[in-house]
Order: sequence, then C-alpha cells, then structure tokens
Amino acid sequence: MSSLQEQLNVLRRSYALQIQERVQQLEMLSRDIKTGVAGDHVLHEIHMQAHRLAGSAASFGFQEPGRVARRLELYVRPLLEAGLVDEDQHQEIESCLHALREAVEKDLALFRDQGFSAEQQTEELLHQDHSRRICLLDTEPESMHDIVPQLEAFGYTVRTYSDLNALRQGVAQEPPAALILKLIAPEDTSLVAQTIREIQQGRELPLPVIFISSRDDIDARLQAVRAGCDAYFTMPPDFGALIDKLDSITAISPAEPIRILIVDDEPILAAAYALVLQRAGMLTEIVSDPLVVLESLNEFRPDLILMDLYMPNCTGLELAAVIRQQPAYVGIPIVFLSAETDFDKQLAAMQMGGDDFLTKTIQPDQLVSAVTSRAQRSIVLRSLMTTDSLTGLLNHTSFKERLALELARAQRLSTPLAFALIDIDHFKSVNDTYGHPTGDRVLRSLARLLTQRLRKTDAVGRYGGEEFGVILPSTTGAMAFKILHELHIGFARIRHPSERGDFSVTFSCGIATFPEYQDAISLNDAADKALYEAKRRGRDQVVLSIPI
Ligand code: GH3
Ligand code: MG
Ligand code: MG
Repeated sequence: MSSLQEQLNVLRRSYALQIQERVQQLEMLSRDIKTGVAGDHVLHEIHMQAHRLAGSAASFGFQEPGRVARRLELYVRPLLEAGLVDEDQHQEIESCLHALREAVEKDLALFRDQGFSAEQQTEELLHQDHSRRICLLDTEPESMHDIVPQLEAFGYTVRTYSDLNALRQGVAQEPPAALILKLIAPEDTSLVAQTIREIQQGRELPLPVIFISSRDDIDARLQAVRAGCDAYFTMPPDFGALIDKLDSITAISPAEPIRILIVDDEPILAAAYALVLQRAGMLTEIVSDPLVVLESLNEFRPDLILMDLYMPNCTGLELAAVIRQQPAYVGIPIVFLSAETDFDKQLAAMQMGGDDFLTKTIQPDQLVSAVTSRAQRSIVLRSLMTTDSLTGLLNHTSFKERLALELARAQRLSTPLAFALIDIDHFKSVNDTYGHPTGDRVLRSLARLLTQRLRKTDAVGRYGGEEFGVILPSTTGAMAFKILHELHIGFARIRHPSERGDFSVTFSCGIATFPEYQDAISLNDAADKALYEAKRRGRDQVVLSIPI
C-alpha cells in the first residue's frame, strides 16, 4: 500500500470512528426535542451538527451520509426561525436520522470489507483513550509524597504496582504511555534494569521511563541511565517539572493536520482539490456558496483558504476583502485558483489580499506544495502572535477575538454560551512566600489543568497576570457552574512543590452567560462583577451572575 493511500486511510478511519459518535449524538438530541416548546436549544444543536456533518462527511468518502446530513440541515433551518417543532416535523427529523444511520452503517460496512475491522476501530479508540495512562512502580504507596492524586489532577490515569513482577505483567496486559519507577529503598538496580529490558523487548518504540529516586549521587544517576531511563527526578519530585516531562513524552498526537477551506462554486472541482489535499494528510472543508464562507471560517478555523476567483454571487476578490476585514483573519493566507492567465488580473488579485495565484490546471503535487508551505508558515506566525509565552494559552487580544467569534455564532444559532473569569487567590503572597519562578509554575499548572479538562471547542486565555478567561460554547449557566466548580476543586487539590515545602492554591471565578448578557462588554462586566462577588464572599469559590 502506498504511503499516500495509507495516510488517506488513516484519515478516513479516524473519521469513521467519529461519524458513528456524531450520528449517535444527533439521535440523542432528537430524543430531547420537546414538541411544541418554543426556543428549543436542542434544535439549534441539531442544525449545527447536521451542518458540520454535511460539510465533512463527503470529504472522507461518506457521500450518502453527507447528502442525508445536508437534507437534515436544510429541513431544520427554517424551523429555527419559529423555534418550534410539531409532531410531524419531529417525525421527519427522526426519519432523516434513520436514513443517516443506515447510510453510515452501509458505508462503514464497505470500509470493513476493505480491511478496516471492528477490532482495529476499538484498538484505535483504546489507543486514544490510553495515551495518558501511566504504570507506576511504588514499593511504598502509603508513604508521603504520594504522587497519584497529583497525576490524576492533570488527567493521567495511574495504575500502581508494588513490585517489579507485577509491573511487568501489568505493562504486558495493557501497555501504558509511560512508566514511572519510584525507587525509595536502595533497590537492586540490576534487577530494575533487567525488568526494563524485558518490558522494552519486542516493542517498536521504547516506552518512556521516568525514575523518581531518593538518591541524588552520580552513581545512582548513571545506573538509571544505563537502565534506560529518560528522565530522573529526586525525592520529593518537582511536580511541575514532572508533569511537563510527562506531557511532552506522552504527547504522541501527531501534529494536527493542516486545515484547508476550499471555496469553489463547482463542487466536483472542489472535491478534486479536497481529495488531493487529503491525500497529503490535510483536513478540508468545502464551501460552494461563497456567502456562507464566514460561517465556515468560524467553525472550521482553516489555516489557509483556497478560493475560486469567479463565483456566481460574488467574486473571490470581493470575498477576500470581506475576510480581511475581520481582525481574526487578517493573517490567514488566501490562495486563488482560477483559469485566469491574464497577468494584470492576477496582480489585482494579489492586491486585494490574495497571497498566491494558482491556475486551475495545476498539478496535484504543485497544489500540495504551494498550500503546505504557506499554511505552515501561517500556523507558526499565528501561534507566535496569538499565544501567551508563559502558559501557551491565547493571549488577551486573541482571546477577545475568539469571544467575539463565539458570541456571533451563539447569536446566529441561538445556542447558549458561558464566559468565565478566573483569578488566583492571594497570588501576591504566593510570589512573596515562594518566589516568582514558583508563582510562574502555579500559573502554568492552572493553564494546563484548564486546557486538559475542557473540550477542544472551548477556549482558554490568559486575561492578565494571574487572571484567566474561559469560553464555553453551547453551555448554559448551570452547566458552566458545575464544570468550573469541578475545576476549582481540582486546582485546589494540586500540591505545588517549592523549596519551602508543598503548598496549594485556590482560585475564585465569576461566570456570565449568553443570552442572559447579549454582548461581549456586558458579558465581561457581569463575569467581572461575579468574580468580585466571589472574592468578597471570602474567595475560593465560583459565582454565577444572575441578571435581575
Ligand atoms: P486576590 O485574592 O484579591 O486576587 O489577591 P492577589 O494577591 O491574587 O491579587 P493582586 O492583584 O493583589 O496580585 C496579583 C499578583 O500577581 C501580583 C503580581 O505580582 C502577580 N503576577 C502577575 N503576573 C505574574 C506572572 O506572570 N508571574 C508571577 N509569578 N506573578 C505574577
Ligand atoms: Mg488579579
Ligand atoms: Mg488574584
């Protein structure tokens, strides 16, 4: 099998895993529809999910599911206006979903015939699920410095073994993402080394091994290196550094695929470009109506736009100008595609904000290379511009842009949205007592906790010094309160190490929601007031703003 084909298969496979879940979600949503009840958010969620499915299914070879999803989307759209569904309409939605389920099953059966078995599916799921699984050797699990709660607070699942034999068997049964060996007593290091060798035997890639030892002498460190350890910590371990290390060695996720939005009114052509780009490992979304491109930009968040120059409703040049008017998309590369060979017209296209101009007869490998180099550069530049260097979170400016985008989408789809402001309690005294670098580590640990525990579709930003912002799309106040309350408990549980001993820190949080508050400014003000109220009530709590 060619590597191109393999790549395509990998993409299709991961999509195949998703598509069943997505149909299931839609089915559950439909069950939640309450006929005759106005302002039903469920309907909006169904519309959005159908829209996404329609946009992506065909790109991964699920043609019929894509068509059915589009039918569902178009059927639901006019119902949003009324915000009301009667029995017959609910029946129609159910029958669309039934057709969708059948179409998906049929395509999946085809996939399986092509060698994509159910076991492979489950294995891949397991693989994803267990990328954060740790096997821990701890001969004195009851001792001080129990690191398990800390690891769990950062989203790792830990299985503890009290001797080398049990560890070896455990690893053989369910391979983890990494091994941690806590060596307290002067262990028989040759036995440890022997066990690690046995564990590594026959593995394609060695398992990362971390030692946490009570010894700090060169002898012990040398032996650890010889036994194949990747990182060495002394007791008590610097927890921030340990988590950083684990995060980096378990981050098996291959770099996220490049996302390309293709805008072309001719679907077949767009599909052909999509196919070529997908074969090179990219994710694509096709928009054939230029007027819905802004919507798609927001939802798909492409790294580059490939755009037809001539389309019925507006030209590519006009569309590029509109896109560039949005601050969030000033930097996104736009590459035009056209049969145009007139140099003056090409030049005009560049002046309107196009980054490159490709003729429509372009060869597949040229297309891939033109798109890849531009998209990669823009990804790097964008991440430099939009993230905070200490925490890696969105910086203040890009976080506010994201809020505007999410708010616009929530308004358009009439879905709820929650906005939270988090401020660490008495952080000044953390700095004063334990030093600024330790304070920085506390900030990083909160950033990590937030990004790990929230959904991919949520946004987390560093709002200011020790203040963080969180955007939770499609989330009501009650849900947001529950989520942030859990995060607040999780954060308080983290023990931060320092030279002066372990300590823990709390935060206060204020939440405000759309549609209760309609625009970014009032959302922000309300969340800020709620945060102030949380501080006033004694800190270490979450307050939801309820408008009067
Ligand atoms: P409160 O519970 O009322 O929020 O008290 P506080 O001490 O957290 O609030 P205050 O606003 O008085 O102090 C915030 C402190 O955060 C002061 C500042 O030195 C510290 N800080 C801001 N940015 C950073 C940073 O990047 N690193 C570190 N280590 N400290 C920072
Ligand atoms: Mg503050
Ligand atoms: Mg504070």
